[in-house]
Amino acid sequence: MIKYNLICECGKTFESWFSSSDEHDVLRRKKLINCIYCDSTAVRKSVMSPNLFSKTNKISKNTNLEKKVKKQLLDLRKYIEKNCKNVGDNFTREARNIHYDKKTSKGIYGRATQEETAELMDEGIDVTTIPWVNKLEN
Ligand SMILES: [Zn+2]
Repeated sequence: MIKYNLICECGKTFESWFSSSDEHDVLRRKKLINCIYCDSTAVRKSVMSPNLFSKTNKISKNTNLEKKVKKQLLDLRKYIEKNCKNVGDNFTREARNIHYDKKTSKGIYGRATQEETAELMDEGIDVTTIPWVNKLEN
């Protein structure tokens, strides 16, 4: 059994148990997960805070690890910029075009709000959110 914190479009959060993460995905795709407050099916897993290094002093003091992660994210950014097309604010529209028209297999990147990203995922479009690192800090 696995417990998820779920968040509804009405803003309420609640907990729900699933036998596996796959079960959660299937139920969600079939819109069988309902908000316990308003019965809406626009429910998604609550996203963890991205503050990866703020929880314990032990880790936040480990600046080498932080630098290493930043370096990897920077490398990832370079790779994406080199191999994918920047569509900026048109990301949501372009992602749908590629998904539904299958015109091009070229990767794209750009900006989307958390809600837009959730909508794309609901439609079965494969999107990933990564931290966009600007530069290495000392
Ligand atoms: Zn609700």
